[in-house]
Amino acid sequence: MSANDGPRCGRCDSPGLADPCTSCAATVPPFTRAVAPYLYGGTLAEALVAVKFGGREHLATSLGRLLSDAAGVRPLLAGAACVVPVPLGARRRRHRGFNPSAVFARVLAHEHGVPLAHALARARETATQSELGLADRRANVAGAFAPRRALRGAAVLVDDILTSGETARAASEALLAGGATEVRVIALARTALADPRRAPGAP
Ligand SMILES: [Zn+2]
Repeated sequence: MSANDGPRCGRCDSPGLADPCTSCAATVPPFTRAVAPYLYGGTLAEALVAVKFGGREHLATSLGRLLSDAAGVRPLLAGAACVVPVPLGARRRRHRGFNPSAVFARVLAHEHGVPLAHALARARETATQSELGLADRRANVAGAFAPRRALRGAAVLVDDILTSGETARAASEALLAGGATEVRVIALARTALADPRRAPGAP
C-alpha cells in the first residue's frame, strides 16, 4: 500500500504539485480539510473491492482500524462533535448489506472517543460517480444529501474513497445546512484528480 504522503493539496489531500489543487483553486470546498492517508491502488484497491462487492464486513473493520491509526487522522478528530458517515443510497445498501463508510466511521468514533452520528440522509438516488466524467459528478451529487438532525460544532465526514471530492463537497454542504460549524473529511484512500484510473464503486 502506498501512503499519500508526497506533495499534495493542503485542503483536499489530492496528490500533486499544486497546492491548492486546480479543483480547490477553482471553487473553495465547503470542508476545511480532507485527509486520505493512502493512495488508491494495488492491495488497498483489492481490499476495498472485496469489502464493497464481496460483503466482507470484518475486512471493513480492519481497514477502519488502519485508517484510525494512520498519520494525520488524529488531529482531524480532535475537538470534533461527531463522526458522520456518507450514507449509501437505499438501492446500494440493499445490494451490499452494509455501508463501508459507516463501518469506518464506527471504528474512528470508538477509537477516538467522538460520538457517531448518522446525521445525513440521501435526498435522492444518484448514479455511480465512478461511471461519470469529472464534469458530470458535481451535478450528479448536488443536493443528494440532507441533514437528518440538528448539529452543533465540528463534524467529521467519513468516506471510503475520495476521487473528485464532489461527494464530500455535497455531503459537507448538507452538514453545514444542518448546523455544523465546520466540516472535516476523513477518507481511507485518495485518487489523484487527474488520475484516469477509475475507482470501482467509488462514491
Ligand atoms: Zn484540493
